[in-house]
Amino acid sequence: LPQKFIAAKPILEKLTKQGYEAYFVGGSVRDTLLHQEIHDVDIATSAYPAEVKAIFKHTVDTGIKHGTIMVLDHGEGYEITTFRTESGYQDFRRPDHVTFVRSLKEDLKRRDLTINALAMDPSGQVIDLFGGLDDLKAHVIRAVGVPEERFHEDALRMMRAVRFVSQLGFKLEQNTRIAITANAKLLDKIAVERIHVEWVKLLQGKQPQLGLQEFLTTGMYQFCPGLGDQQKNLAEIAALKHLLLTSEEMVWVLLSRFFGYSPAQARQMLIAWKSSNQLIGHVIIALNALGHFPHPPADVLYQTGLPMLLVANQVAWYDGNAVPENQLKEWYAKLPIKSSKELALTGKDLLEQLNLKPGPQLGAIIKKTEQLVINGQLANDKKVLLRYAQTLLP
Ligand code: ATP
Ligand code: MG
Repeated sequence: LPQKFIAAKPILEKLTKQGYEAYFVGGSVRDTLLHQEIHDVDIATSAYPAEVKAIFKHTVDTGIKHGTIMVLDHGEGYEITTFRTESGYQDFRRPDHVTFVRSLKEDLKRRDLTINALAMDPSGQVIDLFGGLDDLKAHVIRAVGVPEERFHEDALRMMRAVRFVSQLGFKLEQNTRIAITANAKLLDKIAVERIHVEWVKLLQGKQPQLGLQEFLTTGMYQFCPGLGDQQKNLAEIAALKHLLLTSEEMVWVLLSRFFGYSPAQARQMLIAWKSSNQLIGHVIIALNALGHFPHPPADVLYQTGLPMLLVANQVAWYDGNAVPENQLKEWYAKLPIKSSKELALTGKDLLEQLNLKPGPQLGAIIKKTEQLVINGQLANDKKVLLRYAQTLLP
């Protein structure tokens, strides 16, 4: 058992001592069996939410409507979810109404993929009711039950399937692929934010070319914001020999680059994908810098900042325009100042020493001196900068 399971084991045992069933489920079981690191430990139990709360002293109702209670234990929080079935799927989206049940089998049945429908009891014994172990061994992504029905219940599962192809490097099972191809249009019904999460995970997977290839052959790309007319460019990305996208910023900068997008077009795409303003800002900055590689001038280094310079450089690699990362870091380190706060001249200096009045002239003088300091034409020294500022006055 992985360390995180060992730590959580007493919680499961507390439930079983009271006569309930309790298992590790979902991604943590899958990743354990793949000898991969697990992020969150998901626990499922036959105990109803009120029963879970009666057993543990410290709980938080994190998702009680869906049967999830957070149990606090030694400073850790564990999400415990009551076995449940889902019904009344409206509009091909995940339902809001769930029914709590006592049967593990019913709970596993409503899960998306066979590899995600495995359970593990506190002793480490695997419960495999839908062939998930075989599929893990054979590296197969297969819907639980009748794929067509499962994608009608929740169309996001199609994106998840292809996301796992990329993350795990597995093959899509043929009937699952056929059902996705026939139902790709149902993605229209899914909130863009949910598709966004899966799309970025797909591209950041260890074999994004495989996931991207399935994304194209199943036709899902036609039902994602702004991708309908990008088949050729996406295929070009899928054909890259090496593709490793290590941050979400890098994902969008690379897409923008292969789509031939200007920063303004990239912004439109990111808005259509309901991205945060912070992400949009980062991508635009990195994309602007990308245009200057492999020789970004000092003011571009300065305006971009090191994190987005590194992103731009990673994408520049695909054009043969990258520079060694250490070289880039060295250039950046050699900048006389890293931000306007480090400029030795302030607006206050101009007001007090040169008797200037507040106004646009002030900002313009600061900008000009900042530029010259960045380019190494003026020393970052108050006296020097004041003397220079004086020459700008009428
Ligand atoms: P990750 O490593 O990205 O967390 P995960 O498989 O754990 O992958 P989660 O979104 O954390 O994904 O979901 C936990 C589990 O819940 C899944 O393993 C699966 O059993 C089930 N699940 C999640 N989303 C769906 C869905 N849309 N339809 C059916 N089952 C789902
Ligand atoms: Mg998870």
